[in-house]
Amino acid sequence: MSNPQFSERIIFVTFDQLSRSHGALATAVPGQDQIVFIESHDMLTARTWHAQRLFFLLSCCEHLKSELDAGGFQVTTIHASSMRSGLEKLRAQHPDLPIVSTSPSSRSLRQVLNSLGVELLPNNNFLTTPEQFTSWASGYKSLTMEYFYRWQRKRLNILMDHDQPVGGQWNLDHDNRLPPPRPKKGQPPHLWPEPLRFESDQIDDQVRDRLSEFHTWGEPPNGTWATTRTGALAQLAHFTENSLTNFGPFEDAMPTDTWTVNHSLLSPYLNVGLLHPGEVVQAAIDKYEQGGIPLSSIEGFVRQVIGWREYINGIYWHFPDSYREENALDTHGKLLPLFMDPQATQMNCMSSVIADVQERAWVHHIPRLMLLSNLAQLVGMKPQELLDWMRTHFIDAADWVMVPNVIGMGMHADGGAMMTKPYIAGGAYISRMSNYCGGCAFDPKKRTGEDACPFTTLYWDYLDRNRDYFAGNHRMSRPVAAAAQREDLEQIRDRASQVLLGLYDGKI
Ligand SMILES: Cc1cc2nc3c(=O)[nH]c(=O)nc-3n(C[C@H](O)[C@H](O)[C@H](O)COP(=O)(O)OP(=O)(O)OC[C@H]3O[C@@H](n4cnc5c(N)ncnc54)[C@H](O)[C@@H]3O)c2cc1C
Ligand code: SF4
Repeated sequence: MSNPQFSERIIFVTFDQLSRSHGALATAVPGQDQIVFIESHDMLTARTWHAQRLFFLLSCCEHLKSELDAGGFQVTTIHASSMRSGLEKLRAQHPDLPIVSTSPSSRSLRQVLNSLGVELLPNNNFLTTPEQFTSWASGYKSLTMEYFYRWQRKRLNILMDHDQPVGGQWNLDHDNRLPPPRPKKGQPPHLWPEPLRFESDQIDDQVRDRLSEFHTWGEPPNGTWATTRTGALAQLAHFTENSLTNFGPFEDAMPTDTWTVNHSLLSPYLNVGLLHPGEVVQAAIDKYEQGGIPLSSIEGFVRQVIGWREYINGIYWHFPDSYREENALDTHGKLLPLFMDPQATQMNCMSSVIADVQERAWVHHIPRLMLLSNLAQLVGMKPQELLDWMRTHFIDAADWVMVPNVIGMGMHADGGAMMTKPYIAGGAYISRMSNYCGGCAFDPKKRTGEDACPFTTLYWDYLDRNRDYFAGNHRMSRPVAAAAQREDLEQIRDRASQVLLGLYDGKI
C-alpha cells in the first residue's frame, strides 16, 4: 500500500464512473494518486430506494474499491451527510493536493464539483460529446432522433456501405414491432432466451447485510444483476449469443411468458461505467459479421445504443436545467397508489408490470413508455411525481437518462420540444402488443361501462380534455377530431371521473 504522504493527486470517484479504464481512473498511478469515494448519508436515506438499485450501486463501488486496493492504491471512503460536505471534508484534509474527477453525468453533482474547484476530466462514457450534439442540433429546427441517428451512423461509420446504410435503409423498424408470438393450438410455445443468473460473492453478501440500514422497496437482490465488470461482460456475451438474433422483431412486445424478451439488460452497466457503449456496439457488430443475425436486429440494437442513448444524453445537456420542471399540460395529480403496490389495482397489465419492477427493478422500454408513463399521462399525474418514482425504483436510473425520457418522451411535459406528439394509447394497443388483457377484469375494446378498460376510457378523455392544447399540433389533429366526434363523449367523461377516483382509492 502506498504512503498517503507521497500522494500527488486525489482522484474522487463518483457512482457513475466505476471504470478502471476510462475517465480519471484511467490516469491513476499507484503510489502517486489516492482514490476517494464518498458515501452521502442524504443520498442513501432521503428516499425510499428499490433494494436492488441501492445494492447494485453500493456493491459495484465496493468491488471496484477492492480491485483498486489489490492494485496498490490507497483507497478511502468518506462518510458524510452530503456529497458537498464530504468534498469539503476532503478539501480540508488535503488543502494542497489537486482533486481530480471524471465529469459526472448529472448536472447537480457537476455543479457541486465545479464550485469546490475539483478538476474535471472529460466524461467518456458516451460516444458523443455535448458539444458535438449541439453542433448537430444547430442545423435543425426540431431535434428528430432519426436524423441524429443517421448522422451518428455516418460519423461513427457503423453499418455503412461507403456513404449509404448497409442494406439501403437507415431504419428497419417496419420489420420489427411484432406482437408476442401466439402459437396456434397444438404448436409448441415460443422459446425465449433464459436470463443469466449471477452468484453473489463475499462483497455482495456484506453489502446485502447493510441494506437493513435503509428504507427500501422491492425484493432484495436475487441474482438478476451483476456487480462487477466480469459479470457485465458475461451479460454482454450472453446477449450477443442468445438474444441478438431476435432482438428486432419482438423489441416492442410485452409477452407474459418472459420478462427479458430479447432485450440486452445492459443499461445498468453502461450507466455506471462497467461497460462502454463502444465495446457494446463492437461486440454486437462482431457477432453480426459472423453471420446469422438479421439486419433488422443488428440495426435495431445499434439504433438504441448509438442513436437513442446518445440522443437522450445530448438532449439532457442541450436543454437548460429548468427542463426537469416542465409541465406543459399543467397536471398536478399525485403518484397513483398502484405504483407502490401491485395489489392496489385490478388492471392486469399495471399490476403485472409493477410486480415486475418490484422483483427486478427493471422492465423494458415499452412497459416504461406505454404502460407506466402512458397511465401517468392519461390520469394527469404531475410529471415530476413519475420522475421521482422512476429515479428511485429502476436499476439503471440516472439523472441524464431519466429526465429526457420522462419529461420529454413519457409525459410530453416539454410541450413537444423533444417529441412532436405524446406517446399515449388506449387498451387496443396494449391488447395487440401483450398477453395481459386475456386475464383482466376489463375489456380493452370498451370505452364506457363498468368493465371498460381504464386505458381506453382515459385515452379518449385525454384527447377531449386537451383538445385546445393540441389544436395547433397537426400530428394530433386526427385523434383529437375523432374524440370530438364520439357520440358517447358524455358517458366517456363520466366513466373517466369514476376511473380516476377508483385508481386513487385502489378500487380499479
Ligand atoms: C419513461 C422512461 C424512462 C426510462 N428510464 C431509463 C433510465 O433511467 N435508464 C436507462 O438507462 N434507460 C431508461 N429508459 C430507456 C430504456 O427503457 C432503457 O434503456 C432500456 O429499457 C434498458 O434495458 P436494456 O438494456 O435491455 O435495453 P435494450 O432494449 O437492450 O437497448 C440497448 C441499450 O440502448 C440504450 N437505450 C435504448 N433506449 C434508450 C433511451 N430511450 N434512453 C437511453 N438509452 C436507451 C440503453 O443503454 C440500452 O441498454 C427509459 C425509457 C422510458 C420510456
Ligand atoms: S384490459 Fe386494459 S387494463 Fe386490462 S390488461 Fe388490457 S389494457 Fe390493461
